[in-house]
Amino acid sequence: MSLETVPKELRNLRACLLCSLVKTFEQFELDGCENCEEFLHMKNNRDAVYECTSANFDGLIAMMSPEDSWVAKWQRIERFTKGCYAISVTGHLPPGIVRDLRAKGRIYNSRDVSART
Ligand SMILES: [Zn+2]
Repeated sequence: MSLETVPKELRNLRACLLCSLVKTFEQFELDGCENCEEFLHMKNNRDAVYECTSANFDGLIAMMSPEDSWVAKWQRIERFTKGCYAISVTGHLPPGIVRDLRAKGRIYNSRDVSART
């Protein structure tokens, strides 16, 4: 696979708190999040990467054709870019960012499945 969104190594992986995309810290710092960059501005911003991604996540889905995947629909990621996604991400976006999202019409649903029960 040669997709830019696929993790290049398995250490140092983090999941985006907004869309659950999984990449390495360096990939997030270099490219930001392909789905959320307009909201989270992680590109070249280490602090934002720490705030908006979590190293604590469960399960991994490799999504290659989101439009025909029921798993993608189930996870509410069918509109996102191809790549690896976590099933559950532990942690929350900072309140200031959640407010920004709401102002831009993007509702933040926590990706933390364990907290929903
Ligand atoms: Zn994201």
